[in-house]
Amino acid sequence: MKCREVYKYVCTNLDQNLNSARCRRIKKHLSECPDCAAYLDSLRKTISLYREYPTPHVPRSVHKRLFKVIHTIEKESPGGLGGGTRSKSQTKK
Ligand SMILES: [Zn+2]
Repeated sequence: MKCREVYKYVCTNLDQNLNSARCRRIKKHLSECPDCAAYLDSLRKTISLYREYPTPHVPRSVHKRLFKVIHTIEKESPGGLGGGTRSKSQTKK
């Protein structure tokens, strides 16, 4: 099993049956490959952070104001946020 395969499947396996054949292979690889083990570790930490701190509820008025500010910035500085083209590197969940 190669590192790339681990990266590909590790996400889908985190919440699934950890005794599936694929997952056992991933675990075996992780025990032998420090790179992937570190990757999974950081991934798990990120996920647990998301769970611990769910997206705070933003009141509608605040939401509106925020959008207004964003629109103002976009108008005042051409290509201000994101430079007109949408950024390819969206924040990963
Ligand atoms: Zn690896």
